[in-house]
Amino acid sequence: MRIDKAGKECCGCTACESVCPHGAIAMRPDALGFLYPYVDGNKCVDCGLCVKVCAFHTGRHREMQQAMPVPYAVRNRDEKEVMTSHSGGAFIALSNEILRKSGVVYGVGYGGRFRIVHERATNKSGCDGFKGSKYVQSDLQGIFRRVRSDLSDGKIVLFSGTPCQTAGLYSYLKVKPDLLRNLWLVDVICHGVAAPAVWKDYLDYLERKERKKIVAVNFRDKGLTGWRSHTETFKFEDGVKRTYPYLFYNDVMLRPSCNVCPYACLQRPSDLTIGDFWGVEDTCAASMGEDNKGCSLVLVNTEKGKVLFDAVRTALRVMEVCLDDCLQPNLQSPTPCNPQQGRFARDYAEKGFAYVRKKYGNDNWKCRARRWVSNLVPDKVRPYVKRMIGRI
Ligand SMILES: Cc1cc2nc3c(=O)[nH]c(=O)nc-3n(C[C@H](O)[C@H](O)[C@H](O)COP(=O)(O)OP(=O)(O)OC[C@H]3O[C@@H](n4cnc5c(N)ncnc54)[C@H](O)[C@@H]3O)c2cc1C
Ligand code: SF4
Ligand code: SF4
Ligand code: SF4
Repeated sequence: MRIDKAGKECCGCTACESVCPHGAIAMRPDALGFLYPYVDGNKCVDCGLCVKVCAFHTGRHREMQQAMPVPYAVRNRDEKEVMTSHSGGAFIALSNEILRKSGVVYGVGYGGRFRIVHERATNKSGCDGFKGSKYVQSDLQGIFRRVRSDLSDGKIVLFSGTPCQTAGLYSYLKVKPDLLRNLWLVDVICHGVAAPAVWKDYLDYLERKERKKIVAVNFRDKGLTGWRSHTETFKFEDGVKRTYPYLFYNDVMLRPSCNVCPYACLQRPSDLTIGDFWGVEDTCAASMGEDNKGCSLVLVNTEKGKVLFDAVRTALRVMEVCLDDCLQPNLQSPTPCNPQQGRFARDYAEKGFAYVRKKYGNDNWKCRARRWVSNLVPDKVRPYVKRMIGRI
């Protein structure tokens, strides 16, 4: 039996490719740039390892959980870290602690031409590149084997990513429990990931339109409009910064697995979960969100997670909160499928970027409504209102 997955049954975690002892699996992009495993029948010996390692839908990660996560409102004490992170700067505090122990941090940064890639860092400037969410699926190829090699060398490792990525890594490594001892998994609360091929076309389009190169990208420029509104900016080589109506706003290009995601719940495949603390203004930690600079929600999921979190508490303002106060939609159920998703994929494959940009992106009323919601609707109801707009 060998892996035979496509479409929404596969999140692209690369665990099967990494585990195959015969190098029979290659990850190849579909038309949207999402990677899927392909098996070379000539190399495959039907050992079944790739099927066993696939964590998506098995709920296998739940064996590492304590009964329920403990939730905290968190804000980094260093304001510069808050402003350069997307929420309250929880991630950088955790990674600083791993670096202090001479460990290795894996996270998502920008590769050449702003490709979204997982990378390895052993110093602060490397980890700084991981700050800020990139709402496009990262390329993980080769990373699981590098993590394994670091752990085999006795290094302490922090791996951060979406929950399907941490679940895939855990499943890949758990055959050697000794390796897991020095591994900390940190996942993000995850709404879903957008298509890498469309991201690339989008950047090319902006550079053509402006006739200059992009030198920096920010998916949420807090300095411009604050934490609550998703304003992404692009900085060009002449120093000019621009914002654009956001093509990536309306969920039409999410990976299909995101609509059936088994990790949109409180049983997390990680030691610690980090997210935006939407609704913080209605909790006992209200003061952490009132300046609109960002507040993190941290879920402590395991005993090991608690050890790391306790070690970084002095760098953070921390307040324990009730689980009921932080149950945003993606902690309860996956993002619903946008009715236009299938049509978008077909249009993009057949007619290309220019066509879908005009039809689905730009400044249509739904995008404007979402931006309006971001700026005006209170934190607590914002994700629900956005979902309602998405369903229309
Ligand atoms: C695709 C995606 C969807 C998200 N959806 C939600 C949501 O619905 N609700 C919510 O509360 N929070 C969501 N977040 C998390 C949120 O945006 C912040 O990343 C999180 O709160 C951490 O903030 P921070 O200030 O601690 O650290 P930051 O410095 O802002 O976060 C950086 C962390 O995000 C990781 N990361 C960045 N881009 C990616 C990527 N493409 N894939 C995997 N990991 C990545 C980095 O490795 C690092 O660990 C999402 C993040 C991503 C990447
Ligand atoms: S069945 Fe075994 S050899 Fe074949 S692709 Fe899967 S892991 Fe590789
Ligand atoms: S292991 Fe990961 S990449 Fe492989 S089929 Fe399963 S979900 Fe897809
Ligand atoms: S929504 Fe689920 S399947 Fe999609 S990227 Fe996030 S964790 Fe993975």
